[in-house]
Amino acid sequence: MKALSIHGLTKIYPNGVQALNGIDLDVEAGDFFALLGPNGAGKTTAIGIITSLVNKTGGTVRVFGHDIDSDLAAAKSCIGVVPQEINLNQWETVYNCVVNVAGFYGLPRKRAKQRAETCLRELQLWDRRDEASRNLSGGMKRRLMIARALVHEPKLLILDEPTAGVDIEIRRSMWDFLRHINEQGTTIILTTHYLEEAESLCRHVAIIDEGRIAEHARMSTVLRKLHQEVFVLSLVDELQPDMHINGFAYMAINDHEIEVEVASGQNLNQLFAALSDAGIAVSSMRNKTNRLEELFMRLVDRRDKERTKQLADPEICV
Ligand code: ADP
Repeated sequence: MKALSIHGLTKIYPNGVQALNGIDLDVEAGDFFALLGPNGAGKTTAIGIITSLVNKTGGTVRVFGHDIDSDLAAAKSCIGVVPQEINLNQWETVYNCVVNVAGFYGLPRKRAKQRAETCLRELQLWDRRDEASRNLSGGMKRRLMIARALVHEPKLLILDEPTAGVDIEIRRSMWDFLRHINEQGTTIILTTHYLEEAESLCRHVAIIDEGRIAEHARMSTVLRKLHQEVFVLSLVDELQPDMHINGFAYMAINDHEIEVEVASGQNLNQLFAALSDAGIAVSSMRNKTNRLEELFMRLVDRRDKERTKQLADPEICV
């Protein structure tokens, strides 16, 4: 069973911006799926269409088999959404924020109250239930939005940048919670800027770039494409002009720092052995590469090369 099935989805905003350019996307029921892409790629637009906040220009969207054009209410009842922006009614109590939304999904009041309690307890907000939501910390507000999204027991939970601006401890506890509900059967789709988050949680990934799907594969397959990492090493002694690190290319940043490339067939032990052999002492080291950025750069590079090729070859120019 597909939790989400998208075909030929396009969106042109009234100002003429083509945000989606015919995307196809399938997400299996039970999956934990990452939707990645640089800023402006079209992720929020896609989520807006799936959750019926944005009108599509063309294409079809099915949620657990329900077409959003012909069967919107059924499709909507399958989805819980946690938007990127905090959009709570700040004067409402934590409890009412959740109970009142349950009403929109047609849950009877008694059931809504039971579900609100369960969700608020699960997200460790039950003790704060009588407070106005404006009094919560940023991390708590995000948890409250998750509780609110889960109140009608959706089969598909969509989170748009759920941990943006959230500190590491809260991020980790949110990951644990999301893993837990995914194990219980909820399909999860999330957009994120943190590759670490996608890597740690998601089994499949689609990468959107300029309104098109640039990759759609298992997370492990996509990560294997990252062939090289760059490390910045701080040296104890001043850099020598004739310094040679056997098997590794490096670039001097200043008198005491170098950047070293470690390719996929190499490992850090080999690097440190080569540094030792060369008599180079290292005082600290950090990974320079933001892997998500690198992934996007590779995609953009590939896209640009394909365009150049098309321009150079009038046969394939359309
Ligand atoms: P992402 O979520 O990947 O950052 P968005 O879906 O927000 O991307 O944006 C995709 C493109 O659509 C961008 O060029 C953005 O400027 C444009 N866009 C988004 N929302 C609107 C809107 N309401 N009106 C006009 N253009 C928009």
